[in-house]
Amino acid sequence: MTIINNNIKRIYTKIKKYDKIVIARHVGPDPDAIASEIALRDSIRLTFPHKSCAAVGLSVSKFKYYGILDKIDNEDYANCLLIVVDVPNLHRVDGIDNLKYAEILKIDHHPKEDIDGKFDWTDDTACSTCQMITELILKSPLKMDTKIAGNLYLGIVSDSDRFLLPYTTPKTFKIVEELITKSKIDFPKLYNYLYDRSIDEVRFQGFIAMNLKVTENGLGYLVIPSSIVKKYNVDIATPSNLINNFNFIKEVIVWTFITEDIKNKSYKVSIRSHGPIINSTASKYNGGGHKYASGARLTSEEEINKFIHDLDLVCLEYKRASISNID
Ligand code: AMP
Repeated sequence: MTIINNNIKRIYTKIKKYDKIVIARHVGPDPDAIASEIALRDSIRLTFPHKSCAAVGLSVSKFKYYGILDKIDNEDYANCLLIVVDVPNLHRVDGIDNLKYAEILKIDHHPKEDIDGKFDWTDDTACSTCQMITELILKSPLKMDTKIAGNLYLGIVSDSDRFLLPYTTPKTFKIVEELITKSKIDFPKLYNYLYDRSIDEVRFQGFIAMNLKVTENGLGYLVIPSSIVKKYNVDIATPSNLINNFNFIKEVIVWTFITEDIKNKSYKVSIRSHGPIINSTASKYNGGGHKYASGARLTSEEEINKFIHDLDLVCLEYKRASISNID
């Protein structure tokens, strides 16, 4: 197979060169992060059965469908190739403490931050890292089977919010078409792995809907104390899982959930937008992410108030700019 795409050629060459490979993704993983690391690991194992390839990071029980993550002895993987997927900043990479890797290579759809590997394939126009991994496998001699294809499909569907978010492009549909056609996955049967949820979670969504505050400038926000998380029998990751369900509210252009995280003595923040760019605000508050989907961490009530005020200003400026464009 002749590899035409230069990024893919360079990544494939690196994978071929190393006998020991570790794949890692960001802390607090979502389906795109988990699916991309496991799909890439399984494809490398399928293509090169003699290589040792591990996917690391903390296991999350609700994602066990995608596959089991590996517990590794760092000594066994000394001088490995480290591939980080779906994460642009080193401090958010999970499971690589004290790992002595020879080279680091990144495949990611977030805007570039501090990870500057020997080779870095960053495409912040891709709807998901799974879209990039799918392209890598389809356009190189790396092998695919039905399980790998199913994982990749779920990562793409999840991170594009069912092809709703603006990062969904004609290329996304082209890649998905090829993925489905070649692997013959029964994709409608996979959706329960993404969308089955407990009645507690549905009721918690009702709580958010009833209590969401909306400012005149179009900011929707809610501070969720840990007592509420406990009362509804959900966890601190649940608001992030639900946040996309609050898209398309006429009065809201940016919305954020600020959830108390007692264990980490901070507040976990998820932010979404369908207009203003929000990752610059997120990065002022120990966060980052995409232009229209970001996260942050806050540590005090004072900081929460400042953060809400800043986001509200972003909405105001966006509204003013939109009005002056019409004029
Ligand atoms: P979430 O709202 O948790 O789904 O996160 C939305 C996006 O922001 C994802 O791409 C995350 O990787 C990114 N993100 C979330 N939290 C942080 C953080 N503290 N620092 C940098 N990026 C983050």
